[in-house]
Amino acid sequence: DPRLEAISQAIRVVPHFPKKGIMFQDITTLLLDHKAFQDTVDIFVDRYRNMDISVVAGIEARGFMFGPSIALAIGAKFVPLRKPKKLPGKVICEEYELEYGTDCLEMQVDAVQPGDRALIVDDLVATGGTLSAAIRLLERMGAQVVECGCVVGLPEVKGQCRLNGKPVYILVEPR
Ligand code: IMP
Repeated sequence: DPRLEAISQAIRVVPHFPKKGIMFQDITTLLLDHKAFQDTVDIFVDRYRNMDISVVAGIEARGFMFGPSIALAIGAKFVPLRKPKKLPGKVICEEYELEYGTDCLEMQVDAVQPGDRALIVDDLVATGGTLSAAIRLLERMGAQVVECGCVVGLPEVKGQCRLNGKPVYILVEPR
């Protein structure tokens, strides 16, 4: 797809952010580039519009920047998966490993019903720990996770195209 090169170029690489040694893939510059941002959303929308997706689940915070546009375009509901203590009402929680310690993602239990067909969206997949927690949240509520879609993915993940048995669709590799 000829659009992918421009999408890749629109993502800024910030060395040593948020700490020394990390090459941070900054998608905020992609959001500033209208054509590249539109193409990114369009590629996902073209892929998912006929897959009978009923729910797009976005991972806080950068999954919120792509997920809702995709959900609106394919006629699905949008469900935010958030960091602890942000969502009111009854929630379920799944932990995932960080470099030091653990964190968790929460989802409101009434947001998803058994039989829902889910697409999970985030900006970037590295170890896949965050997406795996998201998959567990959706499956606990009886949803079927059809695919995870990420703008950026490490070649290891992009190569195998799967995470915990679920397909992962990645647009570009880190620069
Ligand atoms: P994983 O759980 O190791 O796959 O890490 C993925 C999570 O970390 C996603 O929620 C990303 O938003 C975030 N993340 C890790 N590295 C980067 C980066 O370079 N740019 C933007 N987000 C990142």
